Amino acid sequence: MVTYSHSRLSTFEQCPLKFKLKYLDCLESDQEGIEAFMGSRVHEALQKLYDDLKFMKRNSADDLVLFYNDSWEKNWHDDIKIVRKGLIPENYKETGERCIRDYYAAYQPFGEDTTIATETRILIKVDGKEMQGYIDRLSTRDGGVYIIHDYKTSASLPTNDDLLEDRQLRLYAKSIFCDYSDCHSVEIVWHYLSFNKEFRYSVTKEEAEKVWQEAALLVEEIESCRDFPGKPTRLCDWCEYRAACTHFKHPEMVREMPPEVFRKEEGVVLLNIYSAIDAECKAKEEELQAAKERLLAYARQHGMASVAGSDVRAVIYTNQRLSFPKREDPRQKAFIDLVKKLGLWEELESVDVYALARKINNKEIPGELIHLLDPFISRSVTETIRLYKR
Ligand code: SF4
Repeated sequence: MVTYSHSRLSTFEQCPLKFKLKYLDCLESDQEGIEAFMGSRVHEALQKLYDDLKFMKRNSADDLVLFYNDSWEKNWHDDIKIVRKGLIPENYKETGERCIRDYYAAYQPFGEDTTIATETRILIKVDGKEMQGYIDRLSTRDGGVYIIHDYKTSASLPTNDDLLEDRQLRLYAKSIFCDYSDCHSVEIVWHYLSFNKEFRYSVTKEEAEKVWQEAALLVEEIESCRDFPGKPTRLCDWCEYRAACTHFKHPEMVREMPPEVFRKEEGVVLLNIYSAIDAECKAKEEELQAAKERLLAYARQHGMASVAGSDVRAVIYTNQRLSFPKREDPRQKAFIDLVKKLGLWEELESVDVYALARKINNKEIPGELIHLLDPFISRSVTETIRLYKR
């Protein structure tokens, strides 16, 4: 049985191709983003804080920062990637340090609740599906209240909607409701450490169940997925699978090439030829359009439908193009009613095949319905090239 996790589900939602490369092809990635690296070091320091508190040892903020700096040095490696321009490792290191100091100052003497576990694994098994996760810190208060703490070191604050859509901790809440018999309330605390801010939310049993059901549906979608298309977004800058991704493989391959090798690389040569011809054709297209307009104006002015040249003769055909209110046009309903009233509907009605094809390509039609439509679908692939400035 495959064990799913929130990050597996999110990876699929973010980009099915990334999901495939990471979890199905199990592609190694030695690249680590500095944000994730810094986040891990901060998590370790806060884990130490609460693990030691269980044994009545209270570290000072300086002790934790020392621990953090030490772990930073021990774990640092040269493949750690910094995407944001103009920043250096020291900027991130100091940010992490500030996160720890601010957290310490805000929560000392740490008696608000009792820590049960830190970085603890949870496992939910329902309907033949298994989901796992790690809770940064699980604690409890009197009266059967359990609290899931989650540390974030991201450089942006979530909106209310972001928090209400956050699936991860609600999924974990389901496991807490199942695992602790006295639990009748689960509280989620998101600690946005870079902003020294926390957000709290109480999850009901019903809500945790609903989120689980939605996650189970997503698992079904993943398991029935066959093509795993890439979904380029701005998050691609941070993707550790760019070198294997169909969208970024070539740019990554030529990125570090010396200029003389780059200029001779086969893909670069082919694209340069294509782009030069494309530029020429576009210039010609403009010339052609201008010549056409001049010729039509001449024919119109002299009432001619045909013009003779040295080797060719031009015949000018004039067709009237009709258009009718489209789907988004508020007049469309009245227009259709009139067509029906005129008795033309039966004769003209047809399936909007363009809308149907769009829905199938956008995966807006469930797999089982596509299966029924399949005998009527002919598939062909069209390939288009668009050029963008690098
Ligand atoms: S680079 Fe972007 S499109 Fe490619 S696998 Fe990663 S997230 Fe997907």
